[in-house]
Amino acid sequence: MQQNLWGEKIPRPRKKKNVIPLQTATPYAITDNDCAYFGHTVRAWDLAGCTICIDCQINIFCPQCIAKHPQDETAIAILCERHEEPEESQQVSA
Ligand SMILES: [Zn+2]
Ligand SMILES: [Zn+2]
Repeated sequence: MQQNLWGEKIPRPRKKKNVIPLQTATPYAITDNDCAYFGHTVRAWDLAGCTICIDCQINIFCPQCIAKHPQDETAIAILCERHEEPEESQQVSA
Protein backbone atom coordinates (compact mmCIF):
# COMPACT_ATOMS: atom_id res chain seq x y z
CA MET A 1 0.00 0.00 0.00
CA GLN A 2 1.54 3.10 -1.18
CA GLN A 3 1.10 6.20 0.82
CA ASN A 4 1.02 9.42 -0.97
CA LEU A 5 2.05 12.11 1.41
CA TRP A 6 0.80 14.85 -0.81
CA GLY A 7 -2.43 13.24 -1.73
CA GLU A 8 -4.00 13.87 1.58
CA LYS A 9 -6.97 16.01 1.51
CA ILE A 10 -6.44 19.15 3.41
CA PRO A 11 -9.34 19.65 5.74
CA ARG A 12 -11.33 22.59 4.57
CA PRO A 13 -11.09 25.55 6.82
CA ARG A 14 -14.17 26.19 8.76
CA LYS A 15 -16.60 28.38 7.03
CA LYS A 16 -16.43 31.80 8.48
CA LYS A 17 -19.60 33.12 9.89
CA ASN A 18 -20.97 36.00 8.06
CA VAL A 19 -20.79 38.61 10.71
CA ILE A 20 -22.71 41.69 9.83
CA PRO A 21 -21.44 44.57 11.86
CA LEU A 22 -24.06 46.50 13.69
CA GLN A 23 -24.62 49.81 12.14
CA THR A 24 -24.59 52.70 14.46
CA ALA A 25 -27.78 54.60 14.20
CA THR A 26 -26.26 58.00 13.98
CA PRO A 27 -27.00 59.69 10.68
CA TYR A 28 -24.53 62.44 11.35
CA ALA A 29 -22.69 63.73 14.32
CA ILE A 30 -23.67 67.03 15.68
CA THR A 31 -20.51 68.90 16.29
CA ASP A 32 -19.65 72.19 17.82
CA ASN A 33 -18.86 73.29 14.36
CA ASP A 34 -22.16 72.59 12.71
CA CYS A 35 -22.44 76.08 11.43
CA ALA A 36 -19.19 75.79 9.56
CA TYR A 37 -20.52 72.82 7.67
CA PHE A 38 -24.20 73.41 7.34
CA GLY A 39 -24.43 77.12 7.73
CA HIS A 40 -25.93 79.04 10.55
CA THR A 41 -29.44 78.35 11.65
CA VAL A 42 -30.85 81.80 11.88
CA ARG A 43 -33.76 82.86 13.97
CA ALA A 44 -36.45 85.04 12.48
CA TRP A 45 -34.99 88.27 11.21
CA ASP A 46 -35.98 91.32 13.12
CA LEU A 47 -37.09 94.53 11.49
CA ALA A 48 -33.64 96.03 11.61
CA GLY A 49 -32.18 93.23 9.56
CA CYS A 50 -30.52 91.45 12.44
CA THR A 51 -30.83 87.95 13.75
CA ILE A 52 -28.86 85.43 15.70
CA CYS A 53 -27.87 81.87 15.04
CA ILE A 54 -29.81 79.55 17.28
CA ASP A 55 -26.94 77.11 17.26
CA CYS A 56 -23.91 79.20 18.03
CA GLN A 57 -25.65 82.36 19.23
CA ILE A 58 -23.57 84.48 16.93
CA ASN A 59 -24.95 87.82 15.90
CA ILE A 60 -25.89 88.07 12.27
CA PHE A 61 -26.93 91.02 10.21
CA CYS A 62 -28.04 91.54 6.66
CA PRO A 63 -25.64 93.84 4.84
CA GLN A 64 -28.43 94.84 2.50
CA CYS A 65 -30.62 95.99 5.35
CA ILE A 66 -28.05 97.73 7.50
CA ALA A 67 -24.43 98.63 7.10
CA LYS A 68 -23.34 96.86 10.22
CA HIS A 69 -24.69 95.20 13.29
CA PRO A 70 -25.69 97.89 15.76
CA GLN A 71 -24.49 96.02 18.83
CA ASP A 72 -21.84 93.60 17.71
CA GLU A 73 -18.75 94.55 15.76
CA THR A 74 -17.96 90.92 15.12
CA ALA A 75 -21.38 90.03 13.78
CA ILE A 76 -21.31 88.18 10.54
CA ALA A 77 -23.04 89.26 7.37
CA ILE A 78 -25.68 87.02 5.90
CA LEU A 79 -28.32 88.14 3.48
CA CYS A 80 -31.75 88.00 4.97
CA GLU A 81 -34.70 86.21 3.45
CA ARG A 82 -35.72 89.31 1.59
CA HIS A 83 -32.34 89.92 0.09
CA GLU A 84 -30.87 86.55 -0.51
CA GLU A 85 -30.93 85.47 -4.09
CA PRO A 86 -31.46 81.73 -4.33
CA GLU A 87 -29.95 81.50 -7.78
CA GLU A 88 -26.67 82.98 -6.73
CA SER A 89 -24.31 81.50 -4.26
CA GLN A 90 -24.22 83.59 -1.18
CA GLN A 91 -20.92 85.25 -1.22
CA VAL A 92 -20.84 87.98 1.28
CA SER A 93 -17.53 89.55 1.96
CA ALA A 94 -17.08 90.15 5.61
ZN1 LIG B 1 -24.19 79.38 13.91
ZN1 LIG C 1 -31.86 92.19 4.19
